[in-house]
Amino acid sequence: MIYKRSSALFAEAEKVIPGGVNSPVRAFGGVGGTPIFVKEAKGAYLYDEDGNRLVDYINSWGPMILGHAHQPVVKAVVEKAKKGTSFGMPTEIETKIAELAVSMVPNIDKIRFVNSGTEACMSAVRLARGYTGKDKIIKFAGCYHGHSDSFLIQAGSGASTFGTPNSPGVTKGTAKDTLLAKYNDIENVQALVGANKDEISCVIIEPVAGNMGCVPPKNDFLKKLRALCDANNILLIFDEVMTGFRLAKGGAQELYNVNADIVCFGKVIGGGLPVGAFAAREEIMNFLAPLGPVYQAGTLSGNPLAMAAGLAMLQELNQDAEVFSRLEEKTKYLHEGITKVLAQNNVTHTINRVGSMISVHFDEAEVIDFDTAAKGNNESFKKFFHGLLNAGVYIAPSAFETWFITDALSYEDLDFTIEAVNQVAKTL
Ligand code: PMP
Repeated sequence: MIYKRSSALFAEAEKVIPGGVNSPVRAFGGVGGTPIFVKEAKGAYLYDEDGNRLVDYINSWGPMILGHAHQPVVKAVVEKAKKGTSFGMPTEIETKIAELAVSMVPNIDKIRFVNSGTEACMSAVRLARGYTGKDKIIKFAGCYHGHSDSFLIQAGSGASTFGTPNSPGVTKGTAKDTLLAKYNDIENVQALVGANKDEISCVIIEPVAGNMGCVPPKNDFLKKLRALCDANNILLIFDEVMTGFRLAKGGAQELYNVNADIVCFGKVIGGGLPVGAFAAREEIMNFLAPLGPVYQAGTLSGNPLAMAAGLAMLQELNQDAEVFSRLEEKTKYLHEGITKVLAQNNVTHTINRVGSMISVHFDEAEVIDFDTAAKGNNESFKKFFHGLLNAGVYIAPSAFETWFITDALSYEDLDFTIEAVNQVAKTL
């Protein structure tokens, strides 16, 4: 494929935007080459500035669960825009989307809307600290909760010791309050809790990890975490920015039948506009300003365009009783097809999948945490990525990311993808 115009646009962008991108992973740092500039997208496809068509498996990193430019969402946004784009005053649509979200998700009474997943997780942790009166948090190596200071703690550093900042600008003072644990290792979390008695406010986790590739919780890990938190007066935060409104109507809480104390949302809940949210039972949410002492705010939070997109998206998902099983079927079909052609070509690999989240690792060991995820062969991944791209299939440009399946994908698209994998596998 030809990427002449994308390359020229990237060169222009690099002069005025750091690295030419507004979010680092877009820059192809993990795979080499120059990023592709999108002109437009419809359904399952991206169309780039050089006129190439790409079958999209990123889908804006998750939000476009029903495909790009999904008509009910576009219509809702266009109609709203005609009536003003932001007021900084309450609007009825905020209550409507809140009511719908609360009705779809287990164990939440109230929800507050923000503008990104980062804000949702950052605010959830502040709320947990304010509610419990304790400072420390536990996060898991390989989980991503946005770029606020408390979460930018080096993945892979000693899980039982204090974290160290992995980004200059995060102070040591902040880092010392974030304890790192190993995903899927309950003894490790127990040890951290034991060593920091009465100091831990919350455990925050991606209930299905999607930021070290897709890594499912194993052996009732979430249930064990729930019990550990209950026994130690610690709040359990599910970061459902990826899994919310994707794995089931009620997200991972519903899928695994485990209740969290605070749930964070992003991506699907905004239908592709900048939206995040966090939600909990009433007694926790009432700790927020203006009712309670924990401050949190936003000029554009709950703005009408974002709420219109989010409401249209949630309504679609709520009305379609089959959507989540359809997504699961399509992803299973892709999983089986890719497994078959990689095996036929003797490519060492592991595929992890939960619902419509899937990732391919180039190592045969089971991927259960960050250490096992990091063992994947990155040279194979780079070739895999560029081979697929050349064949018109766009997956995330990093081995540590998940593919997000959209309902707009047809079985022909999936067959096209499996054949592309077959061809690329011959080169690995
Ligand atoms: N939590 C998770 C699980 C995420 O995957 C992400 C983003 N990929 C975030 C939080 C941060 O969301 P945002 O990029 O909207 O700030």
